[in-house]
Amino acid sequence: MLSNKYGLVVGVANKRSISWAIAQAAAAAGARLALTYQSERLEENVRELAAKLEQPLVVPCDVTSDQQIADLAASIDREFGGLDFLVHGAAFAPPAELSSPFVQTSREGFRIALDVSAYSLVALTRAVVPLMERRGGGSVLTLTYLGSQRVFTNYNVMGVAKAALEASVRYLASDLGPRNIRVNAISAGPIKTLAAMGIAGFSNILQIYRDRAPLRRNVELGEVADTAVFLLGAGSRAITGEIVMVDAGFSVSGGI
Ligand code: NAD
Repeated sequence: MLSNKYGLVVGVANKRSISWAIAQAAAAAGARLALTYQSERLEENVRELAAKLEQPLVVPCDVTSDQQIADLAASIDREFGGLDFLVHGAAFAPPAELSSPFVQTSREGFRIALDVSAYSLVALTRAVVPLMERRGGGSVLTLTYLGSQRVFTNYNVMGVAKAALEASVRYLASDLGPRNIRVNAISAGPIKTLAAMGIAGFSNILQIYRDRAPLRRNVELGEVADTAVFLLGAGSRAITGEIVMVDAGFSVSGGI
Protein backbone atom coordinates (compact mmCIF):
# COMPACT_ATOMS: atom_id res chain seq x y z
CA MET A 1 0.00 0.00 0.00
CA LEU A 2 2.93 2.37 0.56
CA SER A 3 5.56 1.07 -1.82
CA ASN A 4 7.79 3.73 -3.37
CA LYS A 5 6.59 6.19 -0.72
CA TYR A 6 8.78 8.30 1.53
CA GLY A 7 7.54 8.98 5.05
CA LEU A 8 8.53 11.01 8.09
CA VAL A 9 7.56 9.68 11.53
CA VAL A 10 7.86 12.04 14.51
CA GLY A 11 7.19 10.74 18.03
CA VAL A 12 9.12 7.52 18.48
CA ALA A 13 10.46 7.27 22.04
CA ASN A 14 10.57 3.51 22.57
CA LYS A 15 9.14 0.23 21.32
CA ARG A 16 5.75 0.97 22.90
CA SER A 17 5.29 4.31 21.12
CA ILE A 18 2.26 4.48 18.84
CA SER A 19 4.53 6.18 16.28
CA TRP A 20 6.85 3.15 16.31
CA ALA A 21 3.92 0.81 15.66
CA ILE A 22 2.93 3.03 12.74
CA ALA A 23 6.54 3.16 11.47
CA GLN A 24 6.75 -0.64 11.48
CA ALA A 25 3.42 -1.03 9.67
CA ALA A 26 4.32 1.66 7.12
CA ALA A 27 7.70 0.02 6.49
CA ALA A 28 6.02 -3.37 6.09
CA ALA A 29 3.69 -1.73 3.56
CA GLY A 30 6.75 -0.70 1.55
CA ALA A 31 7.60 2.84 2.71
CA ARG A 32 11.08 4.20 3.27
CA LEU A 33 11.19 6.22 6.48
CA ALA A 34 12.83 9.06 8.33
CA LEU A 35 12.49 8.88 12.12
CA THR A 36 13.21 11.68 14.55
CA TYR A 37 14.33 11.70 18.18
CA GLN A 38 13.41 14.46 20.59
CA SER A 39 16.72 14.71 22.42
CA GLU A 40 20.05 12.98 22.93
CA ARG A 41 18.46 11.05 25.80
CA LEU A 42 16.26 9.21 23.30
CA GLU A 43 18.73 8.99 20.41
CA GLU A 44 20.06 5.53 21.23
CA ASN A 45 16.54 4.07 21.64
CA VAL A 46 15.42 5.48 18.32
CA ARG A 47 18.58 4.43 16.46
CA GLU A 48 18.24 0.87 17.81
CA LEU A 49 14.63 0.69 16.61
CA ALA A 50 15.41 2.35 13.27
CA ALA A 51 18.08 -0.31 12.64
CA LYS A 52 15.18 -2.76 12.12
CA LEU A 53 14.03 -0.73 9.09
CA GLU A 54 15.55 -0.63 5.61
CA GLN A 55 17.77 2.39 4.90
CA PRO A 56 16.26 4.59 7.61
CA LEU A 57 17.12 8.25 7.97
CA VAL A 58 17.43 9.24 11.66
CA VAL A 59 17.39 12.95 12.48
CA PRO A 60 17.11 14.96 15.71
CA CYS A 61 14.00 17.12 16.08
CA ASP A 62 12.69 18.90 19.12
CA VAL A 63 9.39 20.17 17.74
CA THR A 64 9.60 23.37 19.78
CA SER A 65 12.60 24.46 17.68
CA ASP A 66 11.91 26.10 14.30
CA GLN A 67 15.59 25.65 13.44
CA GLN A 68 15.50 21.89 14.07
CA ILE A 69 12.32 21.59 12.01
CA ALA A 70 13.98 23.46 9.13
CA ASP A 71 17.11 21.26 9.41
CA LEU A 72 14.89 18.14 9.41
CA ALA A 73 13.13 19.22 6.21
CA ALA A 74 16.53 19.95 4.61
CA SER A 75 17.85 16.47 5.56
CA ILE A 76 14.78 14.81 4.05
CA ASP A 77 15.13 16.91 0.92
CA ARG A 78 18.78 15.84 0.55
CA GLU A 79 18.13 12.16 1.26
CA PHE A 80 14.68 11.52 -0.28
CA GLY A 81 14.17 14.52 -2.60
CA GLY A 82 10.49 14.68 -1.57
CA LEU A 83 8.00 13.32 0.97
CA ASP A 84 4.70 11.44 0.69
CA PHE A 85 3.54 11.35 4.30
CA LEU A 86 4.10 12.75 7.77
CA VAL A 87 3.09 11.02 11.00
CA HIS A 88 2.94 13.44 13.92
CA GLY A 89 2.97 11.65 17.29
CA ALA A 90 4.52 14.25 19.58
CA ALA A 91 2.71 15.41 22.72
CA PHE A 92 3.73 16.72 26.11
CA ALA A 93 2.37 18.54 29.14
CA PRO A 94 4.37 19.24 32.31
CA PRO A 95 3.62 16.43 34.81
CA ALA A 96 2.21 18.82 37.43
CA GLU A 97 -0.59 19.76 35.02
CA LEU A 98 -1.74 16.13 34.78
CA SER A 99 -2.31 15.44 38.44
CA SER A 100 -3.96 18.53 39.93
CA PRO A 101 -7.38 20.03 39.10
CA PHE A 102 -7.61 21.65 35.65
CA VAL A 103 -8.49 25.00 37.22
CA GLN A 104 -4.91 25.10 38.59
CA THR A 105 -3.34 24.97 35.10
CA SER A 106 -0.41 27.40 34.99
CA ARG A 107 0.14 29.86 32.13
CA GLU A 108 3.48 28.21 31.33
CA GLY A 109 2.04 24.67 31.51
CA PHE A 110 -0.74 25.68 29.14
CA ARG A 111 1.75 27.27 26.74
CA ILE A 112 4.06 24.25 26.70
CA ALA A 113 1.25 21.72 26.23
CA LEU A 114 -0.26 23.66 23.33
CA ASP A 115 3.12 24.37 21.73
CA VAL A 116 4.43 20.79 21.78
CA SER A 117 1.13 18.99 21.23
CA ALA A 118 -0.77 21.23 18.80
CA TYR A 119 1.32 24.00 17.24
CA SER A 120 4.02 21.49 16.27
CA LEU A 121 1.61 19.93 13.77
CA VAL A 122 1.25 23.27 12.02
CA ALA A 123 5.01 23.96 12.02
CA LEU A 124 5.98 20.48 10.81
CA THR A 125 3.30 20.41 8.14
CA ARG A 126 4.36 23.80 6.80
CA ALA A 127 7.97 22.62 6.61
CA VAL A 128 7.13 19.54 4.55
CA VAL A 129 4.57 21.07 2.17
CA PRO A 130 7.21 21.87 -0.51
CA LEU A 131 8.54 18.29 -0.23
CA MET A 132 5.03 16.87 -0.65
CA GLU A 133 4.23 19.16 -3.57
CA ARG A 134 7.23 17.72 -5.35
CA ARG A 135 5.58 14.30 -5.05
CA GLY A 136 2.23 15.56 -6.34
CA GLY A 137 0.61 15.65 -2.89
CA GLY A 138 0.79 13.91 0.45
CA SER A 139 -0.88 12.70 3.62
CA VAL A 140 -0.40 14.15 7.11
CA LEU A 141 -1.59 12.17 10.11
CA THR A 142 -1.65 13.09 13.78
CA LEU A 143 -2.78 11.32 16.95
CA THR A 144 -5.45 12.61 19.26
CA TYR A 145 -7.68 11.50 22.12
CA LEU A 146 -11.36 11.82 23.09
CA GLY A 147 -10.28 14.04 26.00
CA SER A 148 -10.53 16.85 23.41
CA GLN A 149 -14.33 16.66 23.65
CA ARG A 150 -15.08 15.03 26.98
CA VAL A 151 -13.64 15.40 30.44
CA PHE A 152 -11.33 12.63 31.64
CA THR A 153 -9.92 13.01 35.15
CA ASN A 154 -6.33 14.33 35.05
CA TYR A 155 -6.21 14.62 31.24
CA ASN A 156 -6.67 18.36 31.87
CA VAL A 157 -4.65 20.68 29.64
CA MET A 158 -3.89 17.79 27.26
CA GLY A 159 -7.62 17.78 26.46
CA VAL A 160 -7.42 21.46 25.57
CA ALA A 161 -4.29 20.82 23.49
CA LYS A 162 -6.03 17.96 21.65
CA ALA A 163 -9.04 20.21 20.91
CA ALA A 164 -6.60 22.72 19.35
CA LEU A 165 -4.87 19.90 17.49
CA GLU A 166 -8.15 18.62 16.01
CA ALA A 167 -9.19 22.12 14.94
CA SER A 168 -5.73 22.51 13.36
CA VAL A 169 -6.34 19.30 11.38
CA ARG A 170 -9.47 20.86 9.86
CA TYR A 171 -7.85 24.22 9.05
CA LEU A 172 -4.75 22.58 7.58
CA ALA A 173 -6.93 20.23 5.53
CA SER A 174 -8.80 23.23 4.14
CA ASP A 175 -5.59 25.13 3.31
CA LEU A 176 -3.73 22.23 1.77
CA GLY A 177 -6.48 20.28 0.01
CA PRO A 178 -6.02 22.29 -3.21
CA ARG A 179 -2.40 21.05 -3.25
CA ASN A 180 -3.58 17.44 -2.87
CA ILE A 181 -2.24 17.25 0.68
CA ARG A 182 -4.64 15.55 3.07
CA VAL A 183 -4.61 16.04 6.85
CA ASN A 184 -6.32 13.63 9.26
CA ALA A 185 -6.12 12.40 12.83
CA ILE A 186 -6.63 9.08 14.53
CA SER A 187 -8.34 9.36 17.90
CA ALA A 188 -7.00 6.27 19.62
CA GLY A 189 -8.41 4.50 22.65
CA PRO A 190 -6.05 4.41 25.65
CA ILE A 191 -2.83 2.41 25.24
CA LYS A 192 -0.12 1.94 27.87
CA THR A 193 2.78 4.05 26.55
CA LEU A 194 5.35 6.37 28.11
CA ALA A 195 3.13 9.44 27.56
CA ALA A 196 0.05 7.67 28.91
CA MET A 197 1.83 6.64 32.11
CA GLY A 198 2.25 10.35 32.89
CA ILE A 199 -1.51 10.65 33.44
CA ALA A 200 -2.45 9.90 37.03
CA GLY A 201 -4.98 7.05 37.23
CA PHE A 202 -4.44 5.95 33.62
CA SER A 203 -5.09 2.27 34.43
CA ASN A 204 -8.64 3.22 35.56
CA ILE A 205 -9.28 4.64 32.09
CA LEU A 206 -8.09 1.36 30.51
CA GLN A 207 -10.50 -0.58 32.74
CA ILE A 208 -13.46 1.70 31.97
CA TYR A 209 -12.91 1.17 28.24
CA ARG A 210 -12.77 -2.61 28.74
CA ASP A 211 -16.05 -2.46 30.67
CA ARG A 212 -17.98 -0.07 28.43
CA ALA A 213 -16.66 -0.04 24.87
CA PRO A 214 -18.94 -1.93 22.46
CA LEU A 215 -16.08 -4.32 21.68
CA ARG A 216 -15.46 -4.80 25.45
CA ARG A 217 -11.70 -4.47 25.14
CA ASN A 218 -8.85 -2.04 24.75
CA VAL A 219 -7.28 -1.25 21.41
CA GLU A 220 -3.87 -2.55 20.42
CA LEU A 221 -0.95 -0.71 18.86
CA GLY A 222 -1.24 -2.77 15.67
CA GLU A 223 -4.87 -1.75 15.24
CA VAL A 224 -4.00 1.94 15.34
CA ALA A 225 -1.09 1.27 12.96
CA ASP A 226 -3.31 -0.54 10.43
CA THR A 227 -5.70 2.44 10.35
CA ALA A 228 -2.70 4.74 9.97
CA VAL A 229 -1.44 2.84 6.91
CA PHE A 230 -4.91 3.24 5.38
CA LEU A 231 -4.97 6.99 6.09
CA LEU A 232 -1.43 7.44 4.74
CA GLY A 233 -2.07 5.57 1.51
CA ALA A 234 -4.21 5.88 -1.61
CA GLY A 235 -7.11 3.91 -0.08
CA SER A 236 -8.11 7.07 1.81
CA ARG A 237 -7.52 9.50 -1.08
CA ALA A 238 -10.91 11.22 -0.66
CA ILE A 239 -10.64 11.56 3.14
CA THR A 240 -9.31 14.78 4.67
CA GLY A 241 -9.99 16.89 7.74
CA GLU A 242 -11.28 13.82 9.59
CA ILE A 243 -10.83 12.56 13.13
CA VAL A 244 -11.07 8.76 12.82
CA MET A 245 -12.00 6.96 16.03
CA VAL A 246 -9.97 3.80 16.70
CA ASP A 247 -11.33 3.12 20.17
CA ALA A 248 -13.23 -0.20 20.15
CA GLY A 249 -16.35 1.97 19.80
CA PHE A 250 -16.09 3.65 23.21
CA SER A 251 -17.04 7.10 21.92
CA VAL A 252 -20.52 6.00 20.79
CA SER A 253 -21.57 4.63 24.16
CA GLY A 254 -23.74 6.77 26.42
CA GLY A 255 -21.72 5.98 29.50
CA ILE A 256 -24.32 3.72 31.15
P1 NAD B 1 5.06 8.22 23.60
O1 NAD B 1 5.54 8.76 24.90
O2 NAD B 1 5.66 6.96 23.13
O3 NAD B 1 5.17 9.30 22.45
C1 NAD B 1 5.13 10.69 22.70
C2 NAD B 1 6.26 11.27 21.89
O4 NAD B 1 6.25 12.70 21.96
C3 NAD B 1 7.64 10.81 22.38
O5 NAD B 1 8.33 10.19 21.31
C4 NAD B 1 8.33 12.10 22.75
O6 NAD B 1 9.72 12.07 22.45
C5 NAD B 1 7.60 13.08 21.84
N1 NAD B 1 7.80 14.46 22.26
C6 NAD B 1 7.45 15.07 23.42
N2 NAD B 1 7.92 16.33 23.44
C7 NAD B 1 8.58 16.52 22.26
C8 NAD B 1 9.32 17.59 21.70
N3 NAD B 1 9.46 18.77 22.34
N4 NAD B 1 9.89 17.42 20.48
C9 NAD B 1 9.77 16.25 19.82
N5 NAD B 1 9.08 15.20 20.30
C10 NAD B 1 8.50 15.33 21.51
O7 NAD B 1 3.48 8.04 23.80
P2 NAD B 1 2.31 7.72 22.76
O8 NAD B 1 1.15 7.32 23.60
O9 NAD B 1 2.78 6.81 21.70
O10 NAD B 1 1.96 9.15 22.15
C11 NAD B 1 1.92 9.41 20.77
C12 NAD B 1 0.70 10.28 20.46
O11 NAD B 1 -0.48 9.49 20.63
C13 NAD B 1 0.55 11.49 21.35
O12 NAD B 1 0.06 12.57 20.59
C14 NAD B 1 -0.52 11.03 22.33
O13 NAD B 1 -1.22 12.12 22.90
C15 NAD B 1 -1.40 10.25 21.38
N6 NAD B 1 -2.37 9.36 21.99
C16 NAD B 1 -1.98 8.44 22.91
C17 NAD B 1 -2.92 7.62 23.50
C18 NAD B 1 -2.50 6.61 24.54
O14 NAD B 1 -3.37 6.17 25.29
N7 NAD B 1 -1.26 6.23 24.63
C19 NAD B 1 -4.27 7.71 23.12
C20 NAD B 1 -4.64 8.63 22.16
C21 NAD B 1 -3.69 9.47 21.60
